[in-house]
Amino acid sequence: MVNGQTFQPLTQEVGEVADRCLDLAARIWARPETGMTEHYACAEQVSLLRELGFAVETPFAGQQTGYCASYGSGDVTFVFMAEYDSLPGLGHGCGHNLICTAAIAAGYAAAVKLKREGRPGRVLVMGTPGEESYGGKVLMMREGCLKGVDAAMMVHPSWHSIPDAGCLGIRRFIVSFKGKAAHAGTAPELGLNALDAAVMLYNAVGVWRQQLPESSRVHGVIKEGGVVPNVIPDHTCSHWFLRAEKERTLDAMEKRFRDMVKGAALMTGTRPLIRPWMTPYQGRTPNQVLNQAYWEAALAAGLKMELPATPGRGSSDFGNVSQAIPAIHGYFAISEGRIPGHSQVFAEASASELGRANMLKAAAAMAAVGYGYLVSQPFRDAVRTEFENNK
Ligand SMILES: [Zn+2]
Ligand SMILES: [Zn+2]
Repeated sequence: MVNGQTFQPLTQEVGEVADRCLDLAARIWARPETGMTEHYACAEQVSLLRELGFAVETPFAGQQTGYCASYGSGDVTFVFMAEYDSLPGLGHGCGHNLICTAAIAAGYAAAVKLKREGRPGRVLVMGTPGEESYGGKVLMMREGCLKGVDAAMMVHPSWHSIPDAGCLGIRRFIVSFKGKAAHAGTAPELGLNALDAAVMLYNAVGVWRQQLPESSRVHGVIKEGGVVPNVIPDHTCSHWFLRAEKERTLDAMEKRFRDMVKGAALMTGTRPLIRPWMTPYQGRTPNQVLNQAYWEAALAAGLKMELPATPGRGSSDFGNVSQAIPAIHGYFAISEGRIPGHSQVFAEASASELGRANMLKAAAAMAAVGYGYLVSQPFRDAVRTEFENNK
């Protein structure tokens, strides 16, 4: 019971589309497509959603492999978000084949229950491509995809079933240093060493970590560090991720990082170039009222819910959604014990019997949250108050 509303999983309604969703999850798993190339996954979801009675727009919000499926009408709109991109070389190593089918099953269940009860409420299932790196949701939000949407939810596979523990905002950079090549043995005094600059930067970041807030993260790799030892490298390239909970922390971190790049260049006489890379994501702030509802419904659906021991330290483009409207990103277990994300074993778990069964349970729980939101004004008010308080 959350604000007078009970959250019973819509198990029966999800059951009506379980076979088709499981079949789709298996087909998308067997045919992985990386970010922004998810043509098969998008077309198959659109076709199933149309079959289930949704009105679907695709391409949507500027994305060729994006879609928006809508069912029902009314003043209140709840969106279930779908992801379906895979990882290069790893297939569905993040299990997004189960995310999109959970969204479809939940969308159908909530919509059909409202219809049978003759209640108003608009249910959307939104297909958001390229979550890994490209930030499909951020790009779609710039095109107004959340206009008229009141709240959002998605579920993600994991090694355990937990409510949304939040995640970090991320900014990514490519740093290069331009030096001067010279024979390292016969004429070192004519060179300017770009690798030294990259190493200075790497070490500066290492020392900096001691003074970062506990929740912040910085990680980098040197992609190009020179060719042979007897030539002083005139060019290096390194990739960097900066992560933090809040935008203001990221602002301060970015300023310090840029100063370090300049400092490394100054110390080595090289020229620095720093370029923002890929779409930045904001941190994710879970709506705790929606989280409580997911907790109640997921437990009743049979998921072994746990409280997360630590806050989330990854990043997702759903972060931006959570800053714009009340939202949560719940998790469901696809393995019995702890397994790493973005791995071959995670890809295998994304096609396992446990993973597939728990996807349906998570969908039934998510449907309960969306349905509860659409039918209960006191619950919506509590969600809105929590969202405003968190701002
Ligand atoms: Zn991932
Ligand atoms: Zn993922």
